[in-house]
Amino acid sequence: MKNNPLNINDSKRRLSMDRSVAGRIGTTLPKLDVPIQANPPQELLRESLEMPELSESEIVRYLTQISTFNFSIDHNFYPLGSCTMKYNPKVNDDIAALPGFSAIHPMQEESTVQGALKLMHDLQNILAEITGMAGTSLAPMAGAEGELAGMLMTRAYHQANGDRKRTKILVPDSAHGTNPASAVMAGFEVISLNTDSNGNTDIEGLKYVLSDDIAGFMLTQPSTLGLFDTNILEVVNMVRDAGGIIYGDGANLNALVGKLKPGQLGFDILHSNLHKTFTQPHGGGGPGAGAVMVSDRILPFLPTPVIDRKTDKSNAEFFTFMSPEKTIGKMGAFHGNFGALVRAYAYIRTLGKQGVPKVSEDAVINANYIRSQLKGVFDLPYDRTCMHEVVFSARNLKRDNGITALDVSKRLIDYGIHPPTMYFPLIVEEALMIEPTETESKETIDEFIDVMKIIAREAAEDPSLLREAPHNTPNTRLDEALAAREPDLRWNK
Ligand SMILES: *Cc1c(COP(=O)(O)O)cnc(C)c1O
Repeated sequence: MKNNPLNINDSKRRLSMDRSVAGRIGTTLPKLDVPIQANPPQELLRESLEMPELSESEIVRYLTQISTFNFSIDHNFYPLGSCTMKYNPKVNDDIAALPGFSAIHPMQEESTVQGALKLMHDLQNILAEITGMAGTSLAPMAGAEGELAGMLMTRAYHQANGDRKRTKILVPDSAHGTNPASAVMAGFEVISLNTDSNGNTDIEGLKYVLSDDIAGFMLTQPSTLGLFDTNILEVVNMVRDAGGIIYGDGANLNALVGKLKPGQLGFDILHSNLHKTFTQPHGGGGPGAGAVMVSDRILPFLPTPVIDRKTDKSNAEFFTFMSPEKTIGKMGAFHGNFGALVRAYAYIRTLGKQGVPKVSEDAVINANYIRSQLKGVFDLPYDRTCMHEVVFSARNLKRDNGITALDVSKRLIDYGIHPPTMYFPLIVEEALMIEPTETESKETIDEFIDVMKIIAREAAEDPSLLREAPHNTPNTRLDEALAAREPDLRWNK
């Protein structure tokens, strides 16, 4: 059974849909209580509609079975670096589902949704406080949209100063791919900056490119190498002195929350993924929330709407949508993904002032524990204390056994663990980027460490086991390019 270590019963893979029997019906429709309507013209009708015919119990089993083929954070450990797949407390969902939050409409009169507006207003303030910034817009609906908002604000800021020759944005070579893409979408030219041998921004390289045509610098702190860029103050001062804006990619802030405020380091704009740092469940592309926080000088440019608190003549407070004076405009319809905002708010309020710093303490200690235990098993390209994630390289397995980061990742699936992020950051060969997050227990992390050691041993003793993995999933190794370009999503073959 070596190819099937978890001994999953094959019959489990037999989907009920294959059991269709002509004429079988899964539900009984109620008696018709409306007038019978004529059919559409004959030429628009099909001869027959080929659909599976199943009983209710069979369709329930089918849907339940395929739901277990999806991996989620509620199934098992999900150490996907740069994605912060932490546990999402269920109480957040309960709160977001309260009718006062879930059964309202964006076109409703403000007076009828004061609670929702107050929540957004408070969340704006809380996020500004946590990040050390002057104001927040909750409008962007993804991290990448927050970046785009940030780049559009950078452009608007320089243009408002009549400074039109600033057309270039600096982006380190370790950055998330959305960073250069967002800068280009906002009309900038991107200049890539090298990372030095220590994993920091290369100061000499920065000196070389800084000039009066630089609009800003997009910086991820901690970097996507999982490292705190210890050149940060020098970098911020150099870019600011050259007239540039410091943009922070705070998609994953769980190494910093409660410990360090990017605003105090001199950042002008920061986005944070509420669906990574602040427990909105994510995966499969959404729904997300990429709030943007800004310094004083960028405040007038925030995307609209933001929520303003006012008081009426009798001194009672009320909340209202407002448009900042020189706003870059809307990022989408209405005002962001409200359900995601409720969850983030519930999460932060549940933690409170004492709980928030614990998040970063646990995130950092968990990642460093993995670093210390797997060092020597996998190569560690930047061997220093990490932040919330650690980037290993499988190049030692490649050199010794011809085993790649992909093979290791696929084998992890056999052990019921989601693979880490791989081949990113691009500057690390055979990268395995592991983020345990703050919500995992020592026991779970120990289990992962054991499995990673077993896999490294298997790579030496039985490399084909890894090359052909995964072995116990409904589909084994796919041609991923083909699967993406020509997805076969039909229930029948
Ligand atoms: C996830 C991530 C993004 C993009 O966020 P989306 O919500 O997927 O658009 C940007 N930067 C970093 C560092 C990230 O981890």
